[in-house]
Amino acid sequence: MKSSDYYERAKMLMPGGVSSPVRAIRPYPFYTTGAAGSRLTTADGTDLIDCCLGFGPLILGHAHPGIREAIERQLASGWLYGTPTPLEIELAGLIVGDHPGLEMIRFVSSGSEATMSAIRLARGYTGKKDIVKVEGGFHGAHDAVLVKAGSGATTLGIPNSAGVLPELVEHTRQVPFNNPEALETLLSANDDIAAFILEPVMGNVGLILPDEGYLAAVREITAAHDVLLIFDEVITGYRVGIGGAQAAYGVKPDLSTFGKIIGGGLPIGAFGGRREIMEMIAPLGPVYQAGTFSGNPLSLAAGIATIRHLHAHSDLYRRMDEAARAIEEAIPRSGRGSFVRLGSMFKHYFRPEVPRDYREVQECDTTAFGKFWKGMLDAGVFLPASQFETNFLSAVHTNQDVDQIIAAYVTCLSE
Ligand code: PMP
Repeated sequence: MKSSDYYERAKMLMPGGVSSPVRAIRPYPFYTTGAAGSRLTTADGTDLIDCCLGFGPLILGHAHPGIREAIERQLASGWLYGTPTPLEIELAGLIVGDHPGLEMIRFVSSGSEATMSAIRLARGYTGKKDIVKVEGGFHGAHDAVLVKAGSGATTLGIPNSAGVLPELVEHTRQVPFNNPEALETLLSANDDIAAFILEPVMGNVGLILPDEGYLAAVREITAAHDVLLIFDEVITGYRVGIGGAQAAYGVKPDLSTFGKIIGGGLPIGAFGGRREIMEMIAPLGPVYQAGTFSGNPLSLAAGIATIRHLHAHSDLYRRMDEAARAIEEAIPRSGRGSFVRLGSMFKHYFRPEVPRDYREVQECDTTAFGKFWKGMLDAGVFLPASQFETNFLSAVHTNQDVDQIIAAYVTCLSE
């Protein structure tokens, strides 16, 4: 069967034919039947260079032999126990050891669960009600953060979801990214704010980098107002380097959330932070949080193998950086578009200047992006299908892949 046939069946069974709205590519998504290294194979018999990588987790590419072996080894010993395992101590030790802002961590099953739990913990610890997020920031699909949310919510024009109670989201305040003054003003005017949650590098509105000094400024402002600072490192954790954005920018948050890479491509999430705050979580404290699949052995095994590989091959970040820089340097400068990159994350915007916040990113020409995206796909390169998602390279994209990506960009941007 071809993708179009699969889609005809899928749309009768699942809303939009998909399990997550970001996959609802028009007129129909391609269906993947296999993957290896940097490539996806589709039901239509095409072979695509993958710059989506499962929306970020697959930093070592698809079906990496070392990760596969770790999963298979664990598979032979069972895949769910309902008890603690030595594996979770090992992964906790690695992640806590790598991140300056962590003393303790708890594993959950997705990034959404991680931010939901971190926000509850911040409220439980401080006894305060409101939270502040960044306009266009995306922290998963739960009620408190579906306000001016990026990612698929922005792509589909529903950044404020129906079904979320107004009396709940009135406790979610917003500030623009890269604007410490707006944060200072808000925190000065309101003494009932538990936490400020942000992606230190915005990865769900394309890619927006923090201005020099912005993250240090939000650290100072939140501390001065007794507001917890939560870094959502679901994308940036082990992507911008070992230690995530908190190490790269030298700013220590009170709480951090993780997902994606720490599970090596299997479902996972985690949140962690200062011991005194984390000890408020059940069973030690009064903030409840639990999950049947939390710390599931397969995800832990894949995560440990991934992180150990990243530790053992420290040149890998430099090589990904060089590959992505080659793309950056080869992109034609048309005056209509702009390009931004951080390590292996990159994005071309259909806006003359690189956006600095959500308002600016919404000025992008999404019609032009749609045509460009289709051209890239026809040229054999799969980018996330939205102007408001980030592209990724893996450690296994070859020089040949990079050359093909560059050729596709040059052709599609000059059309
Ligand atoms: N936070 C950020 C920064 C994310 O990018 C995402 C997902 N793209 C999430 C949270 C939610 O993670 P999940 O999809 O695993 O629930």
